[in-house]
Amino acid sequence: MFDIQSFYEAKSVEDAIRALSQDEKAQVISGGTDVLIRVREGKDAGCSLVSIQKIPELKGVELTDSGDIKIGAATAFSHITNDPLIQKYLPMLGEAADTVGGPQIRNVATIGGNICNGATSADSASTMWTLDAELVLEGPEGERIVPISQFYTGPGRTVRDRREICKYFLIRKENFEGWHGVYKKYGKRRAMEIATLGCAVRVKLSEDKTRIEDGRLGYGVAGPTPLRCRKAEAVLKGSRVGDMEAVERFVETALTEVNPRSSWRASKEFRIQLIGELARRALKEAVERGGGIMNA
Ligand SMILES: Cc1cc2nc3c(=O)[nH]c(=O)nc-3n(C[C@H](O)[C@H](O)[C@H](O)COP(=O)(O)OP(=O)(O)OC[C@H]3O[C@@H](n4cnc5c(N)ncnc54)[C@H](O)[C@@H]3O)c2cc1C
Repeated sequence: MFDIQSFYEAKSVEDAIRALSQDEKAQVISGGTDVLIRVREGKDAGCSLVSIQKIPELKGVELTDSGDIKIGAATAFSHITNDPLIQKYLPMLGEAADTVGGPQIRNVATIGGNICNGATSADSASTMWTLDAELVLEGPEGERIVPISQFYTGPGRTVRDRREICKYFLIRKENFEGWHGVYKKYGKRRAMEIATLGCAVRVKLSEDKTRIEDGRLGYGVAGPTPLRCRKAEAVLKGSRVGDMEAVERFVETALTEVNPRSSWRASKEFRIQLIGELARRALKEAVERGGGIMNA
């Protein structure tokens, strides 16, 4: 039983903002795979919904004139995985998108909904952190750009005002050109499974593939929000490819930057184990994708 006060299909971003501004109980619905569950569970019973699903400008992936990538917030995960630009420039994001739910969910669930719901378990979030993604939001006061590192404020909470629409994500060229990455998700099942832990590693190797010029490490479910481990990244930066002592220092440092909890899915101790192990595995694969040999 869905207890919904009203459902409005917005014709444009401006139309959606107007509808959200007129009704303080109104909230955005995109694919609805989170919103409708909350309504059915009674958490958002009686709300008004403003759908952005039929606004063409919010969908699709494009390369800008300056070589950056724009991902429309209402783009479904199955589109992201199959998009030629994503496959060419951001394959890791396509792979992360492909771990969400099952095929039916991925056909409707959007990347905007995955980030805007504020969930630490969101499968696209740790990759978007390691890409330094920027969110372009529009509300009654106009447009603003929020770096993903400033977007989350707590579990299920973000800086987004209820009346703001996330229009698209901007990934700057310098954050993907020359980088290689891997997303590792741990869950008890292979599909239809919320992450027990998610780990994203990206590396940029020197031209001769013997040094890690730069590295990034992001997690989901390692704290109340998705996060980056910047001290661990500093350990990795400049290290020799295959230096296993540096890898262990990288992992140990990451463990000082996380704050997982116990839940019915897994204990804190098990998550700590996963935080280390997934980082090691993702780092090895990311380096190999970049043409380096990890155990040399
Ligand atoms: C069976 C099932 C399995 C799932 N498995 C996974 C999984 O494996 N991994 C995973 O990460 N998630 C999973 N989910 C959760 C969900 O599918 C994702 O979080 C999805 O990306 C949400 O997108 P949506 O478009 O459906 O969002 P909606 O439900 O439409 O919206 C989610 C939230 O974001 C807001 N919102 C949405 N779009 C915008 C926008 N453009 N601007 C501003 N606010 C916006 C809404 O107001 C709402 O608060 C699963 C859900 C189900 C039902």
